[in-house]
Amino acid sequence: PSRALVVGAGLAALRGAEAMRDTGFSGTLTIVGAEPYRPYDRPPLSKHVLTGQIAPDATTLPSSFGEDVDWHLGIPAVRLNRADRLVHLADGTALPYDRLLIATGTRARPWPNPHEGRLAGVYTLRGRDDAIALRKALTSGPKRVLVIGGGLIGCEVASACRQLSLPVTLVQPGPAPLARVLGRYIGAIVGAMHEARGVDLRLGGEVEWLEEANGRFMRAHLVDGTAIAADIAVMALGAVRNTEWLYGSGLSFDAGGVDCDADGYVLGEDGCPDTAIAAAGDVARFPHPLYGGHRIAVEHWGHAVAQGVHAGRLLAGDKPERNYAALPAFWSGQAGVTLKSVGLTEGADAMTIAQGDPATGRFLALYGREGRCIAAVSVDCGRWLPAYAERIAAAAPFPPEETVIDRGGALAILA
Ligand code: FAD
Repeated sequence: PSRALVVGAGLAALRGAEAMRDTGFSGTLTIVGAEPYRPYDRPPLSKHVLTGQIAPDATTLPSSFGEDVDWHLGIPAVRLNRADRLVHLADGTALPYDRLLIATGTRARPWPNPHEGRLAGVYTLRGRDDAIALRKALTSGPKRVLVIGGGLIGCEVASACRQLSLPVTLVQPGPAPLARVLGRYIGAIVGAMHEARGVDLRLGGEVEWLEEANGRFMRAHLVDGTAIAADIAVMALGAVRNTEWLYGSGLSFDAGGVDCDADGYVLGEDGCPDTAIAAAGDVARFPHPLYGGHRIAVEHWGHAVAQGVHAGRLLAGDKPERNYAALPAFWSGQAGVTLKSVGLTEGADAMTIAQGDPATGRFLALYGREGRCIAAVSVDCGRWLPAYAERIAAAAPFPPEETVIDRGGALAILA
């Protein structure tokens, strides 16, 4: 191949493009991004940019690229024409490719009522500009904050608000925050940690509509008839995948992602792979061997890196030996603790505290399904996690038979 094109100038795009060059690809390399920025890191936005510990532009990702990349930034791709191997941009440019990497990620799921979602005082958090706008709002005088949605980003925003000493209420429809990623039990423990730090947690609450005054958000009305007054509402409702530009391409995709085969090549509507195109990162939906071969999309940083590198090598012709099968993993900083996870807790039918003690705030939970280890979550004890990652990768029996003891800090696993 002599022309490589990468659409989406985020983490997976950057690591994929670098992997192409590292693999010896010497043709033209073009990267298209909807945002006007070189690839930057999103995790610090909710943790350190909101609190002012990191300046927004300090999130730019280091890269080995010099003049050997043709950047098209601030212009989204709007159409893919596979027959002519062209990607059309919003400004009318048509870019040819021999190899194409799709890495357009996700965007914040909007509030269902567009009028209410656009009110002054209503925010979402996905990109650098969102973080800049939200920080400005949080730091311009005393503010009461309402966070709608108790997933990772909602909880991190609530945590950042408490660090800024702002009163914050978090409304979460389910019985515990973070239940989707940590499971109910651990979610409830982390929820209690948020409450201990002053977050007003409203579980089982569902916001129905937003009341305004002169175009500005004033109060959220819940299904149960109660209302919460606040100055700022942060919608943390999850993400939707940026796949609209693929309409008419003949690829298999929907709002849940673009479908890939086990290698990472995208699939056409006919189910056949297009070996000129791979996808990576949040936007890709691929069959993971550990999760019954079901197509999953993983919205985590480490996955965007690993799958980006995999896809870059694949497209450069250096076929990686195995199908893509890296374990999903994430970390998060909130409520004063560091959460880390490997595997997917969704679908677990059992859970055990494998090490540590929730009462001390330092513990590791291991999750099983049908007698196999499928995920582990550590709370303030990330160094224990690698041993469990190995078990999950090997689909080891659950519950584990070993006794785990911590001898003065040196971990020993005894059979
Ligand atoms: P993205 O980073 O979303 O990049 C995609 C890029 O494509 C974007 O720049 C977008 O503008 C561009 N794009 C979209 N449409 C088009 C188009 N049509 N044409 C051209 N370009 C387009 N993960 C963790 O594991 N741990 C964390 O602690 C953590 N914290 C996070 C905190 C926040 C606030 C957010 C938003 C995410 C966090 N994540 C975290 C998730 C992690 O950042 C993502 O998994 C990762 O960014 C995915 O990378 P990506 O390249 O697939 O997508």
